[in-house]
Amino acid sequence: MGLYQRMKKIIITLDGYSSCGKSTLARQLANELNYVFIDSGAMYRAITLYFLRQHIDWNQVTAVNKALSEINLEFQYNEITGQSDMYLNDENVEALIRDMLVSEHVSEVAALKEVREFAVAQQQKMGEKKGIVMDGRDIGTTVFPNAELKIFVTADPAIRVERRFKELYAKNPNITLEEIKTNLEMRDYIDSNREFSPLRRADDAVDLDNSNLTREEQLAIALKWAKEKMH
Ligand code: C5P
Repeated sequence: MGLYQRMKKIIITLDGYSSCGKSTLARQLANELNYVFIDSGAMYRAITLYFLRQHIDWNQVTAVNKALSEINLEFQYNEITGQSDMYLNDENVEALIRDMLVSEHVSEVAALKEVREFAVAQQQKMGEKKGIVMDGRDIGTTVFPNAELKIFVTADPAIRVERRFKELYAKNPNITLEEIKTNLEMRDYIDSNREFSPLRRADDAVDLDNSNLTREEQLAIALKWAKEKMH
């Protein structure tokens, strides 16, 4: 049995603006602690993909509710990558949901009350047994307001654009820095100003600015905080 298995199981939340490196840190933390990692953004992206494919008019509540009743979301472990992939109605959509078209609409879809209720209920269920690291926008405020460790991740906006660019350029060499900057700004604006569970720093969160930190350095800081809460 590993060192961490003998310690108290906790819930760790990571919230922050787009492309702050939340998922990377959350995944590293989960690996170290042998915890479940959940990328909540992947769920909103998969719902958006479904809405786009089915041409759902998301201004119509009835259409949204019907579409949600047809959606089954699941995370499945991928043996090759060693990470969990997002499945939408039994289809692996992990690559598709990272597409720019989905990024352009996901914040509008994620702002809908019905969509939030649908996703948040599933996220809360995933955390019932604790031992989970979840990243998103409202995890420490709405999904797990009683989480033992809440981290609010920030990074310099220029660095965030650069990181996203590197990530997307490999798949789409036509993408521009400007396009990414516009998309991040638009999503951050909608995410922060929506009516239902907007992006907020929880009052009891700790701040982690990773602009000048390596992955190893930020992991070491977060692990120290986690261990303090696991005693
Ligand atoms: O984390 P990621 O950038 O993949 O999330 C995609 C979008 O999903 C965000 O821009 C936001 O609109 C939405 N989201 C959300 N609440 C979360 C996670 C993501 O509204 N907890």
